Amino acid sequence: MTSISGAGGARRVLSVTSECVPLIKTGGLADVCGALPWALERHGWDMRVLLPSYPGVAKALGKTEEVWKSADLFGGPATVRIGRTGHMTVLLLDAPHLFARDGGPYLDTLGQDYPDNPERFAALSWVAMEIARDGLDDGWRPELVHAHDWQGALAPLYLRQQGVAVPSLLTIHNIAFQGLTQPDRLAGLKIDGEGFDDGPLEFYGKVSALKAGLLSADRVSTVSPRYAAELSLPEFGMGLDGVISTLNQPVVGILNGIDLEVWDPETDAAVTPYSAARPASRAKNRKALQERFGLEAGSGPLAAVVSRMTTQKGLDLLAEVLPGYVAAGGCLAVLGSGDKAIEKTFRDAAARWPAQVGMAHGYDEPLSHLMYAGADAILVPSRFEPCGLTQLYGLRYGAVPLVAPTGGLADTVIAANPAALGAGVATGIMMSRVDAGGLYDALMQLITLYAAPTTFKQIQKNGMKADFGWERSAGAYATLYSDIISEATE
Ligand code: ADP
Repeated sequence: MTSISGAGGARRVLSVTSECVPLIKTGGLADVCGALPWALERHGWDMRVLLPSYPGVAKALGKTEEVWKSADLFGGPATVRIGRTGHMTVLLLDAPHLFARDGGPYLDTLGQDYPDNPERFAALSWVAMEIARDGLDDGWRPELVHAHDWQGALAPLYLRQQGVAVPSLLTIHNIAFQGLTQPDRLAGLKIDGEGFDDGPLEFYGKVSALKAGLLSADRVSTVSPRYAAELSLPEFGMGLDGVISTLNQPVVGILNGIDLEVWDPETDAAVTPYSAARPASRAKNRKALQERFGLEAGSGPLAAVVSRMTTQKGLDLLAEVLPGYVAAGGCLAVLGSGDKAIEKTFRDAAARWPAQVGMAHGYDEPLSHLMYAGADAILVPSRFEPCGLTQLYGLRYGAVPLVAPTGGLADTVIAANPAALGAGVATGIMMSRVDAGGLYDALMQLITLYAAPTTFKQIQKNGMKADFGWERSAGAYATLYSDIISEATE
């Protein structure tokens, strides 16, 4: 592979993602893609983020200029427009036939996947390849393509198939989403079907964008060291554990950081300000949260959940043990939407115990901030969790995380076991195992610890002082980028 002549100064990387804060977010992927450019700029990287232009996104970005165009991108005309938001340079892929839809980035207004999702994100990946191959109209051309999840995963494949001498990194934010489709759609994905049965795309007779990316990218990373290790195990690999085990180089685990400017209880406009040094006014947020959910002040802890409602997040387990937690004096405020059956269990619980359980349906960014700022604990009983951000926001805001012993949760929380309590270093509560019994025991530990205010305040304070900013992780990405580029040019 030949290298692209360096322009001197910052090194260039193209980040390919289906969501990115502050323009469009459905989950942690957006937080990460929104924070990386600025964090990496400080390490000498010039990152541009390629993102679909969903409705409203162009308006939010403001002034833009066209830097790429195609008369026919997967069935319609398309342009890429460059703009700035905050510290980030964005390349908006404007292709109305693919992205101007009512509904969210992936789901229609009824909550169903758009039937052409494979083609929509294949187009995004194809444009990334073209930008790497030919550069943009302003002369910018990346030295590395950093693709995220299945939506960007065909970019590494296209780079290889088209013989483009630009290396790539694929980051797995959640291996549960793989971009599967039927082989009769290969031509529409601009993929030659010859050799499909033995090729990198084939996954039990289907086409897997993620598998293709895993086998085509120069390197693969994920969002915590523990999840990197878990991915090669059958219980976490979602059928791709075998593929992961055969990769030439092991998956690199780089922990996600959080944006310490956006997530700062001292300056957050959505909450009454406080800090680890001046925690007293945190109580006002607790009161505001109680009022918002119509909960009555009791002597027990007020726990919160801010989450997609899926079995991944273990919220069915929470519903199962809720009666015991409520009977022990605990309160719960839930914000989220997703699986209708799980939503219903929390709505029913709120109707049954209105003074102790509240449920807000939907996606509400400011309310999520108030929940981290007002709750005593944030519950994250996930069956698997690549990194998890809500426990990190909980730590920063003084909502003690109660987490499952998996993935990034295990990498970021110091469990309040006797050793950690004795040393005064605990930052949260860890379930001993991921089942209803393990969650129940952890909730009872929360009740007990909350009843010992000195210990509980110490745990809160430890968490608030922990550093989960991007600095360390950005350094790790910068090193990985440099390694990939050097290896590709050897
Ligand atoms: P995932 O990406 O698997 O959904 P993460 O913990 O990595 O889980 O990231 C979830 C992100 O989405 C966090 O920033 C969290 O605050 C936010 N979030 C989840 N549900 C909601 C909601 N209903 N309203 C507002 N923010 C939410």
